[in-house]
Amino acid sequence: MKASELAVLKELLATPKKIVIVPHKNPDGDAMGSTLALYQYLVKTGHKAHVVSPNDYPKFLKWLPYEDTVVKFDLQNKKAVRLINEADLIFTLDFNALSRVAEMEPALQNSSAQFVMIDHHQQPDDYAVVTYSDTSVCATCQMVYHTFEMLEVTDLIDADMATCLYTGIMTDTGSFRFRSTTATTHQVIAALIAKGADNALIHEKIYDANNFSRMQLLGTALTNLHRLEEYHAAYITLSQEELDAHDFQKGDTEGFVNYGLSLENTVLALIFIENKQEGIIKISLRSKGDFSVNLMAREHFEGGGHTNAAGGKSDRSLEDTVAYFISILPQYKEALNE
Ligand code: 5GP
Ligand code: MN
Repeated sequence: MKASELAVLKELLATPKKIVIVPHKNPDGDAMGSTLALYQYLVKTGHKAHVVSPNDYPKFLKWLPYEDTVVKFDLQNKKAVRLINEADLIFTLDFNALSRVAEMEPALQNSSAQFVMIDHHQQPDDYAVVTYSDTSVCATCQMVYHTFEMLEVTDLIDADMATCLYTGIMTDTGSFRFRSTTATTHQVIAALIAKGADNALIHEKIYDANNFSRMQLLGTALTNLHRLEEYHAAYITLSQEELDAHDFQKGDTEGFVNYGLSLENTVLALIFIENKQEGIIKISLRSKGDFSVNLMAREHFEGGGHTNAAGGKSDRSLEDTVAYFISILPQYKEALNE
């Protein structure tokens, strides 16, 4: 964060404010961990704060401290709109374009609040008075920790806040294995454990909470795994019918795309998931090395993200989306073979 922006942030927080903290739609561990940690800090320091999420999040996050205080825009629309309208200040965490809150975007656009962005995705939009954007940091949760450092308030981090921040760093780094994981990340993690984050318990709560139908759905996904060896690529499809047959719940497909990437000699993996209700195919893209799925998602799938992890969507059928993906691969052949 620039010194001038830090000064603005300090000034904004110097007097009690009405504050709304917003994660992106379909929030993940980093989005929920960062918003909930910031929420706790703001409440502790005398502000009236609420996390307002565009929609619900997966069951494996429904144990995070204070998650029961989260207001869901789709389910509690009146309350969410009122909080947004009354807010002096809106923090947007783990996203950098207002379109990432989907149906909630008009409410944010109409708000007269000042915005603060804390995010680690590429190409941030320009809507905030404080834009703390750093694509080199593995997780927004790490950036929230750095924000506390800059505000000189790390003393206020308690076990609950540390648990939230640990969770987001763990999930966004694939349990500390992605290249974005640095020595600084581990230093932050060490500090969070010292403050009371129970690392073994957090891993169990996130990763060892599979129900039987989710494991069966993973079986279907692996059966549907295709290789495109010429392009060092792999993809998985899941149709609505297959999801329905396995009692699909939000979050069940989290991480499936990584199985494609775990195939030897694979640098690009996608998963295409049909969503009949929204009339779209939701796409997750992952890569290794310098191949940018952020660019592929931006150019072809109305999405974006990071170099090695991005998301997007398609309005075509599942079959046509896969055919389209295969049709664009020749233009990436050289990059995929490097
Ligand atoms: P996932 O595949 O896990 O949903 O998302 C991977 C990464 O891409 C995350 O950092 C997420 O924020 C980003 N992402 C996912 N979907 C979209 C999208 O539709 N648009 C943009 N710009 N980013 C996305
Ligand atoms: Mn993130």
